[in-house]
Amino acid sequence: DPLITCRSLNKVYKTRSGDAVDALVDLNFDIAKGEFISVVGPSGCGKSTLLKIMAGLLDYTSGDIAISGKAVTGPSPQNGLVFQQPNLLPWKTIAENVYFPVEIQQGRRAVNMTLVRELMSMVGLKGFEGKYPHELSGGMQQRAAIVRALVQDPAVLLMDEPFGALDAMTRDMMNVELLKIWSKHRKTVIFITHSIPEAVFLSDRVIAMTPRPGEIAEIIPIDLPRP
Ligand code: ADP
Ligand code: ADP
Repeated sequence: DPLITCRSLNKVYKTRSGDAVDALVDLNFDIAKGEFISVVGPSGCGKSTLLKIMAGLLDYTSGDIAISGKAVTGPSPQNGLVFQQPNLLPWKTIAENVYFPVEIQQGRRAVNMTLVRELMSMVGLKGFEGKYPHELSGGMQQRAAIVRALVQDPAVLLMDEPFGALDAMTRDMMNVELLKIWSKHRKTVIFITHSIPEAVFLSDRVIAMTPRPGEIAEIIPIDLPRP
């Protein structure tokens, strides 16, 4: 069975002036457990809308979307979220930021310290545990945001242009790190990007959305050797 199923999904935004904007139109796809999927397409085609719906942060107008057989009805600790901005709490250290979601949901003792140490080291954050976010570069902050998402052991990692604000070299390094983490932990990843080379480098399959909102042009399987 697929991990994520999306059937006839529609999203219509109502603007304040009363206009209707079709953001997603009859969207259909399945995603298997452990797949790395990129979603590409031009600005305004509905990528962020789709991701926010999957994350339970936005209502859909009609259709069905389910993760692990359960209809998406709201935010869930099943989902690890990474946005373009790291959204770290400035008054907490990197370590405290990384534990925070598990801590508030299940208590500090539920934090898997072995996983924390492993992930921090995989992304080069070892030694930065006691620093505050403002003491780190944008790339290092975003690495902490990725670790924070993974420490929850989510069923799905949802990433919306996670490296969009970073310079090209940092971005390349983080793509390699992300693939290493994926190869080891085989999380199901949905990765939104404007960059086709990035999508090709990372993904098993690419969901290409057309300028017509919501319409999927094609789901392209990418069959490349993994590093
Ligand atoms: P991106 O292209 O990076 O997804 P956008 O600039 O399209 O970002 O959107 C930024 C934010 O503004 C999003 O939260 C989106 O939901 C909201 N937004 C986008 N278009 C509109 C619109 N026409 N009316 C109101 N809010 C919008
Ligand atoms: P993308 O992420 O691919 O740039 P979005 O999902 O942000 O696309 O937007 C899809 C469409 O929905 C766009 O036409 C955008 O203007 C519109 N839209 C997004 N958010 C809102 C909103 N809050 N209100 C009205 N229209 C929106």
